[in-house]
Amino acid sequence: MSLYGDDCYFYYYSTCNKGTVCPYRHVPEARGNETACTLWKAGQCTRPACRYRHMEIVVSITLVNMKI
Ligand SMILES: [Zn+2]
Ligand SMILES: [Zn+2]
Repeated sequence: MSLYGDDCYFYYYSTCNKGTVCPYRHVPEARGNETACTLWKAGQCTRPACRYRHMEIVVSITLVNMKI
C-alpha cells in the first residue's frame, strides 16, 4: 500500500486482498470521501495521506451524464 499516487479501487469499493504489498493508495481518511482531488487530477498532489480521492468518482460521472 501507498499514501501517494492513484487510489486502490478494491480498497475503496470492497476489500483489497493485496494488503500491504498493494502498489496503490490505501488512505482511511479518503475512504468515505466522494470528492476527487483537484491537485491529483493535475498530477500535482504531494500531500501525504491526502483525504481527497485519487480516482475518478463514478457517481459524479453519472450525474454529469444525466445533466447532458
Ligand atoms: Zn490495494
Ligand atoms: Zn490529493
